Amino acid sequence: MTNVITDQGNWERRWHPLLSQWVVVAARTGNRPWNGATVGEESDAVVTSAHDKSCHLCAGNTRSNGEINPDYTGPWAFNNDYASFAPDAPSFENENNNNPLHRRDSNQGHCRVLCWTERHDQTLASISTDNMLAVGQLWQNEYNTLSQDPEISQVLIFENKGQEIGVSNPHPHGQIYATSFVGDSFERARKAQAEWARDNSSVMLLDLIAREEYQYSLKVSETDHFMAIVPYFARFAYECWIIPKAAAKHIGDMSDAQRDDLALLYQKMAKTYNVLFQRESPNISLMYNAPCDTHQDNQHWQFHFVMQPPLREPDKLKYLAGFESGTANIVNPVQPEAAAQRLREAFKSAETNT
Ligand SMILES: [Zn+2]
Repeated sequence: MTNVITDQGNWERRWHPLLSQWVVVAARTGNRPWNGATVGEESDAVVTSAHDKSCHLCAGNTRSNGEINPDYTGPWAFNNDYASFAPDAPSFENENNNNPLHRRDSNQGHCRVLCWTERHDQTLASISTDNMLAVGQLWQNEYNTLSQDPEISQVLIFENKGQEIGVSNPHPHGQIYATSFVGDSFERARKAQAEWARDNSSVMLLDLIAREEYQYSLKVSETDHFMAIVPYFARFAYECWIIPKAAAKHIGDMSDAQRDDLALLYQKMAKTYNVLFQRESPNISLMYNAPCDTHQDNQHWQFHFVMQPPLREPDKLKYLAGFESGTANIVNPVQPEAAAQRLREAFKSAETNT
């Protein structure tokens, strides 16, 4: 079914008056080229060729908009051809937007695609150390550039990995949505961290990882600069957070040594999930950098990098079904302490096998 593209319906967000949050309408993304799985059909789970002539992200290939990819090696970033947000999205400033039931606003922003490597057959778990460090530099460069745009309030760097997540192209890549508004969960996290700072004169997530449980039962691993932990309040089975041990609001705040440490720990976690599930593990990874608007509460934010795989067992997906969809409260089928123990063991085995 092809979406009907209109000048304005393609580029707007609409206010949900019951939930007090924005719903992004981006019909254009429904028309992007699809090389992923479709309902009732298995796609090729194993990618074996280093270069795929039909892939829109492989080096030297022509994308669906006619542009030719450079002969890149290592990571490479470009503007998403099927963006949900764009700098030239229509403005509704002249529209009567005073109706509280039917409000809309502009989808202003930037959508970027980050290819991790020119190799079609690799993932962040399998690329070389030098390639992974270059990915860390790309994360930092992209954040620094996009957060400087005065129209941008939030830069979300993320990866949807695997056909189970609905990835449209198996080429290893992540994305960035840099938006003119701050997302709902970011708003909540900002408010919570600011209130904690005012009440306790400290950083909430640093106080969290200072708790004894994160030295033992909820710890996955630790490096010079970061802790990898399963939060006590994990919402998803095998969810893991990477948190800096010192205050850092965003990846732009980090030294080269911290950034490199983060990239390598993230790669080890990607390998850990493959060991845990004994397969190339699908995952959703979300880099929670502080919002970059002028709100004074941004100063209390602590960077955290969250991985939330959709699997609860190697062959079982966790669906957001009736209760979760109806309430937005998640049912976690695995006790976080048990998840941390399994992840800890898988982390050790991933280290000895590489
Ligand atoms: Zn490719």
